[in-house]
Amino acid sequence: MKAVAVIPGRPNSVHLTEAPMPKLDDVADGRGVLVKVLQIGVDATDREINEALYGNPPAGFDYLIIGHESFGEVVEVGPNVKDLRPGDLVSCTVRRPGGSIYDQIGRNDITSEETYYERGINLRHGYLTEYFVDDCEFMVKVPTKLRHLGVLSEPASVCAKAIDQAYLAQQRLQVWRPRKAFVIGAGQIGLLATMMLRLRGLEVYTLARGAAPNLKARITEGYGATYVSTKNKSLQELAAEVGKPDLIFEATGNSQLCFDAMEVLNLNGALVWTSITGGNREITIPADKINLHWVLGNKLLVGSVNGNRSHFEMGIQALAHGELAFPGITEQILTHPVPGLDHYQEMMRLLVEDKDALKVFVNVGA
Ligand code: BGC
Ligand code: ZN
Repeated sequence: MKAVAVIPGRPNSVHLTEAPMPKLDDVADGRGVLVKVLQIGVDATDREINEALYGNPPAGFDYLIIGHESFGEVVEVGPNVKDLRPGDLVSCTVRRPGGSIYDQIGRNDITSEETYYERGINLRHGYLTEYFVDDCEFMVKVPTKLRHLGVLSEPASVCAKAIDQAYLAQQRLQVWRPRKAFVIGAGQIGLLATMMLRLRGLEVYTLARGAAPNLKARITEGYGATYVSTKNKSLQELAAEVGKPDLIFEATGNSQLCFDAMEVLNLNGALVWTSITGGNREITIPADKINLHWVLGNKLLVGSVNGNRSHFEMGIQALAHGELAFPGITEQILTHPVPGLDHYQEMMRLLVEDKDALKVFVNVGA
């Protein structure tokens, strides 16, 4: 079968390759699920992997099959798979357990080992193929009526986890009733986070560079949030105008903004960082000022990565809830379909060059 791979360490090595057809018995104990791939989403992580800034091949391989945002249809299940049957729609999680206690309790998303295993990213082949097999433990059902948004399951899991982590950590305050949130970045993660924070009833301001009107602004407003172009208003100016946010969700991929965000957070607030920045950038920050205000304001910074099975479930529930609350908005994120694996070069070109591409995804199967 066809697969799209890179040679990690070699920039711009994305290519089409042949991979063996996976088999149910690739997974032990009759727990295998064979999935026909319908759609695979790609994101900045795939771009950074192709730029050789990030990612490693599985042991014994010099190439890595990419693609970590999966959506497909179950074709066949092993004898010990109880909850899935052929025809079910699924998304498959990204991380696989290592040896830490967190991995052992199903929390591989917070593994305490330096080495992490991620399908399509690090040390495990991904999903940009025609079929894949995995353990039923990692397969999460997508309702049939959500088929049009199934390819957003993985990014939704990342947002659901990040927001959940902030709320869990804020239990340190005994009472936390956040009213205002800033989402910095209006890519797929920023927009899905905007939706999820609106579903929680917050007043949300979503910031991005581009001047409105544009698609990001329309989607933001479709979710009942306010779009702010940083061309017209800085983070500081916005905070001075509408008040400091209790929650900031950072999703720009720009490490400078992660630190800028520290200067506008409200007392007792929480700042969540979700950007993966594979480079080596260095910046100067007002360290005394930030430190003083963070100590005096009892503020919290939480980094959040990946989503485990329960976060996929939360993300898919939020997508469904979002369809009820804001019908037809989320599908507008799906801007750039690519018509099949053969078009992998077009896929990478869109990821690198097309600044209007909110979501590039490959229609692999019918
Ligand atoms: C993926 C996550 C992954 C992270 C770090 C992101 O692009 O969506 O699942 O944990 O990269 O590799
Ligand atoms: Zn990703």
